[in-house]
Amino acid sequence: MSFKDEILRRRTFGVIAHPDAGKTTLTEKLLLFGGAIQEAGAVKSNKIKKGATSDFMEIERQRGISVATSVLAFNYKDKKINILDTPGHKDFAEDTFRTLTAVDSVIVVIDVAKGVEEQTEKLVEVCRMRNIPMIVFINKLDREGKDAFDLLDEVEQKLGLKVTPLSFPIGMGYDFQGIYNIWEKNINLFSEDSRKNIEDVVTVDNLEDEALDKLVGEKPANKLREELELVAEVYPDFDREAYINGDLQPVFFGSALNNFGVRELLDCFIEIAPSPRAKESDTRLVQPDENKFAGFVFKIHANMDPKHRDRLAFIKIVSGTFERNKPYMHVRLGKKLKFSSPNAFFAEKKEIVDISYAGDIVGLHDTGNFKIGDTLTEGELMNFKGIPSFSPEHFRYVNNADPMKSKQLEKGIDQLMDEGVAQLFTLELNGRKIIGTVGALQYEVIQYRLEHEYGAKCTYENFPAFKACWVRPEDVKNEEFAEFKRVKQKFLAKDKSGQLVFLADSEFSIQMTQSKYPTVKLDYVSERI
Ligand code: GDP
Repeated sequence: MSFKDEILRRRTFGVIAHPDAGKTTLTEKLLLFGGAIQEAGAVKSNKIKKGATSDFMEIERQRGISVATSVLAFNYKDKKINILDTPGHKDFAEDTFRTLTAVDSVIVVIDVAKGVEEQTEKLVEVCRMRNIPMIVFINKLDREGKDAFDLLDEVEQKLGLKVTPLSFPIGMGYDFQGIYNIWEKNINLFSEDSRKNIEDVVTVDNLEDEALDKLVGEKPANKLREELELVAEVYPDFDREAYINGDLQPVFFGSALNNFGVRELLDCFIEIAPSPRAKESDTRLVQPDENKFAGFVFKIHANMDPKHRDRLAFIKIVSGTFERNKPYMHVRLGKKLKFSSPNAFFAEKKEIVDISYAGDIVGLHDTGNFKIGDTLTEGELMNFKGIPSFSPEHFRYVNNADPMKSKQLEKGIDQLMDEGVAQLFTLELNGRKIIGTVGALQYEVIQYRLEHEYGAKCTYENFPAFKACWVRPEDVKNEEFAEFKRVKQKFLAKDKSGQLVFLADSEFSIQMTQSKYPTVKLDYVSERI
């Protein structure tokens, strides 16, 4: 197969959802269809219950599994599918945001009874801002839920999307009979048998045909006819270009648990979802079919085995091919590195491979060279854009609880921050260190990992900040900036990359500061870490 065809057949995407909507179940069913796994239960949920550290520890113990499920790759028909795992728990939302920089499209899972939930709103907003193509899968149709039209309305309004259904349910919950596939013009009848296969699909060329009444009953058949008429009136025809540009989102209905509607979703997905997309760097737009390799680190995974302290850095290949033992330029460090054992990911395992293509993810063993956001090239000096760092929500001083282990503590904090677990700020005034996180759970995770991986102990102390704002003065030399720095001295810190940050204690204080020093811009988001 030619180099270009290899790239064109790749589909790299993420499944996003509010916890419990059915992300894990759907992912598993996609793998079953791809023949990548033989039985249900093979994909472990990476779910963490609210505040339950013990769950986290348990997951850490099973780290082998969670590394393997970070990327799930398989072949389906003539396509190579890469599913990137995204944690649903809100305390790990930043991890998900970063993973979204490496996907070419997403599938959004929504629970038919709960509708659009909080975490879905946040994640979809990020995808919308980046014009990532999205397909919506409305799940759990075997249960009583909201009316299909009401749900489509809710998706449009709460998520700010423009939708068009490509399938439509016949009944719901107890009366759920199946799904009319608008895309393929056929009906898939539902039975509780989870081993449903393709033979159960009935082609319906003409909706007016009496065969439909025989199939689902006269009343439901008439209702379906009316509903499909309404769909045709209200919603635009599917337009692939609009979908690819992020302007139109097709919707599917089904039940992941019952393996229902999943094949339809997958078959349509491989047809319409984009192959690897071009990505903007600080110097130019990089196309996937360029001959030279370029890629970036979007995730770093710690190795929990204390004997092998190395980490796995996940690289999204943006262009060209990544080859084993070939030297690549680590742009931030300005030096060339070679990798003798790059890992490619398959359904449940990882393997060393000689060559990977744009769209693929490779895992590189790393002893501390990589940070999230780093770019690798064949020599070109450029950096990929768009790995965001959001203001944390929680702030605490970190204190050393074992003076004999201060080196270990420093190293541990340094590496955990490179992994993107949390953000470190160093106060300008006295050099004290503050850890900022998205969720309170992270503090327990950090404490646990510092102790178990680095042999260091820490305690925390509250720091009364509300948000971290990155300071962007229009003119570093003007008097206004000098005064800002003088007056706010106690609240100024440097982040890990040396950027100045204002740790504001309230929304009010941010507003006041902004109106008093209008040339000193304050920003909640930092582009790179
Ligand atoms: P995640 O948190 O989004 O990964 O959700 P899971 O895939 O773990 O699913 C959450 C719960 O919903 C589990 O108990 C699943 O068995 C259940 N579930 C998933 N899909 C369906 C479905 O189609 N119908 C029903 N009734 N339950 C489902």
